[in-house]
Amino acid sequence: MAGNSNTGRVQCGKCRAHNEASRNKCRSCGGHLYLICRKCRQKFARFLDLCPSCGENNHHHRDVSKETRLQKLWRKAPQLIFYLILLAFLYFVFTLF
Ligand SMILES: [Zn+2]
Ligand SMILES: [Zn+2]
Repeated sequence: MAGNSNTGRVQCGKCRAHNEASRNKCRSCGGHLYLICRKCRQKFARFLDLCPSCGENNHHHRDVSKETRLQKLWRKAPQLIFYLILLAFLYFVFTLF
């Protein structure tokens, strides 16, 4: 067995399992091993929160990508309902006078 290559290993950002660098997803939890930096678009290991190329913190980026379009809309729902009520009220006032 030729196990003399320690480079080409990457740690999972979720479960901290060690994976081959050629993999895109963790063999243990299936999570993505790499992130694309939102600033310089460089691919880097996910367990590093700071991009090694430009130093941009990509930490809070991962939860945003998980959120679906419907969840985003639902988060804005109270705001939308408020505007709808306001519009209905204004319409009511203008038609009355
Ligand atoms: Zn993992
Ligand atoms: Zn970067």
